[in-house]
Amino acid sequence: MSVLRSNNNGRPRVNRLLAALPRHEYKRLLPKLKTVNLVLGEVLYGSGDAIKYIYFPNDSIISLISELSETSWLEVGMVGNEGVAGLAVFMGAGASSTRALVQGSGTAMRMSSAAVRTEANRLGSLHRLLHRYSHSLLNQVSQSSACNRFHLVNARLARWLLMTNDRLGMEEFPLTQEFLSSMLGVRREGVSKAAGALQAAKLIRYSRGIITVLNRSGLEAKSCDCYAIIKAETDAYLN
Ligand SMILES: [Zn+2]
Repeated sequence: MSVLRSNNNGRPRVNRLLAALPRHEYKRLLPKLKTVNLVLGEVLYGSGDAIKYIYFPNDSIISLISELSETSWLEVGMVGNEGVAGLAVFMGAGASSTRALVQGSGTAMRMSSAAVRTEANRLGSLHRLLHRYSHSLLNQVSQSSACNRFHLVNARLARWLLMTNDRLGMEEFPLTQEFLSSMLGVRREGVSKAAGALQAAKLIRYSRGIITVLNRSGLEAKSCDCYAIIKAETDAYLN
């Protein structure tokens, strides 16, 4: 796997869920939030593990992975600056049903699970936003599951690249076929063929493990409707 890194001129972007909080509530929460660096490939917690912290990504991406066996696993959800990883804590569970794997290096705001439980009991704006995000993430997971089962690899790859592009906020990022293969649950040959087709259409450039998005609107046209559905749901919850 190679590193997905946001340069963003060196400035970490702010998590949109935290940014949606009223100023006074955000200020009150600040002492409970710690900025941490997440590194690609880092496992924040495994399936069944107790969750000590929840993570609000700024310019990092966290994949939620469903594992059927050590070698069979699939990304079922993607968390970027629109959300938070570790929702199980908010829902009253101590352990996660998925593995949280850092898919893109960058920063995140970390909060302890104990602090999340206290906040949830206050029934304030964070509680309300986490509720709305839970619904949004559930929709993303449902849509992605159906997408993985029914839609063609080319369309799924276009969706995945667009979702990653949105969360990293940059057009170019390192990415190996091996990593993509695991994310999409497709053999490497299938990924190679799909990336080749998008490249032939001049929508992306894929060279030496670096993906460059050349034509976003063209990529949107190649993606299945799942991208637009998931994006609309995310934007709606934040608005
Ligand atoms: Zn789809």
